[in-house]
Amino acid sequence: MSNTTPERFDVLVVGGGPAGIAAAVRAAECGVSVGLVDDNLTLGGQIWRGAEDTQPKEAGTWRTRLQTSAATLLCGRRVFDQPEPRVLLAEGDEDLFELRYKSLVLATGARELFLPFPGWTLPNVMGVGGLQAMVKSGLPIRGKRVVVAGTGPLLLAVAAYLKKHGAEIPLICEQAPFSSLAKFAAGLIAQPAKIVQAIELKRDLEGIPLVTSSWPIAASGRDALERVTIARAGKSETLACDYLACAFHLVPNIELPVLIGCQLRCGFVQADEFQQTTIPGIFCAGEPTGIGGVELSLVEGQIAGLAAAGYAEAARPLFAERAKARRFAQHLQQAFALRSELRSLPTPETLVCRCEDVSFARLQTQTSWHAAKLHTRCGMGPCQGRICGPATRFLFKWNPDSVRPPVFPARVENLARALPTEPEQPALTGGS
Ligand SMILES: Cc1cc2nc3c(=O)[nH]c(=O)nc-3n(C[C@H](O)[C@H](O)[C@H](O)COP(=O)(O)OP(=O)(O)OC[C@H]3O[C@@H](n4cnc5c(N)ncnc54)[C@H](O)[C@@H]3O)c2cc1C
Repeated sequence: MSNTTPERFDVLVVGGGPAGIAAAVRAAECGVSVGLVDDNLTLGGQIWRGAEDTQPKEAGTWRTRLQTSAATLLCGRRVFDQPEPRVLLAEGDEDLFELRYKSLVLATGARELFLPFPGWTLPNVMGVGGLQAMVKSGLPIRGKRVVVAGTGPLLLAVAAYLKKHGAEIPLICEQAPFSSLAKFAAGLIAQPAKIVQAIELKRDLEGIPLVTSSWPIAASGRDALERVTIARAGKSETLACDYLACAFHLVPNIELPVLIGCQLRCGFVQADEFQQTTIPGIFCAGEPTGIGGVELSLVEGQIAGLAAAGYAEAARPLFAERAKARRFAQHLQQAFALRSELRSLPTPETLVCRCEDVSFARLQTQTSWHAAKLHTRCGMGPCQGRICGPATRFLFKWNPDSVRPPVFPARVENLARALPTEPEQPALTGGS
């Protein structure tokens, strides 16, 4: 195996978003040694990464608690394999790291779900959160026309963010019907904090039309996106734009938990009341156990951190808060369920696997994800099926295969160093 010096922790947390930060803080405050590893150079995950001055007070509070705790922060390292129980391998820019743990908290978050439609691979057609992340990293958006489309509350949050940074938003297209959104809004009555957020969002989005039962059917342009055609009330309409920000809600990052052997239930990591997975000593928190927003990630992270540190009973007072956050997650799932019409978005020529250029027509002749991989190389490219896997699950109802290492592409030299060391062979002596 690797010849790097191992780093050892009582509790190792993978993922530095709200769930991972909360887990690391609560575990470290129990007095055990904690390592928090994240593949980005800065902590915070999808929602809190970036400029600290524009973030909610809660983010600052958790950051301060983390900085004043004794947790070791391991940023810029991506975990790609578990070569043996209780050992993870992570890759940085230059190095390979061996991380040993007694207990593990997996808080690997979620990513956006992209559904293929004609033109979705054109430059400037982006994920909703993806475009927001690029603007946070300096992409100039002032004066650009951005159509925001897909499904879920992220559309509104990102549209408000882009507007604040000077973008013009001609339209937000939400695929869910108005009746679902009305029911979702009514369900917020039991959650006053969410009502405040919704009122703030409504104010921020003033003047921007939001249409329901609407989705993009084509994007076109010469070298990059110039216009998008949307379906709206049974008709189609074409709008000129510079960017299309489009995603159909989120899918959990379950590859590492599955590699380690955690069981899934309905596509999410199965966890008990203390967030322990089906493997003793391995906990999971945040989006891999269910898509439920930052509040659910924070409370699950705290429970997992306490339990992983050996103080499970101290987590009980948090159960009521988690139950409330889970009810919100259920409303979310029901309200933004994908409609079946979206299965007819791709034409035969539309690329579904953009890494390996596999068209919808080629996949239509396949019977399973496994067969598609073998016969078309779908899901075999650099993203390792992270984009086309969830899309084919929706389009064809295929179930994914087992996960094999590496869970992320890794440098060959590090893969070689991850291999078990061969026992030294005795020197061959001459003679027969
Ligand atoms: C692109 C995107 C943008 C979003 N924007 C918003 C927003 O503006 N507002 C909002 O309310 N919600 C937003 N959300 C939803 C938000 O992320 C969740 O509500 C919640 O905050 C998730 O917290 P988490 O800790 O569970 O996961 P995350 O915040 O996703 O954190 C998980 C972290 O784990 C890291 N990671 C994963 N695998 C590995 C590995 N193998 N090795 C090392 N590190 C790893 C990831 O890079 C990430 O930093 C967004 C989600 C996405 C996917």
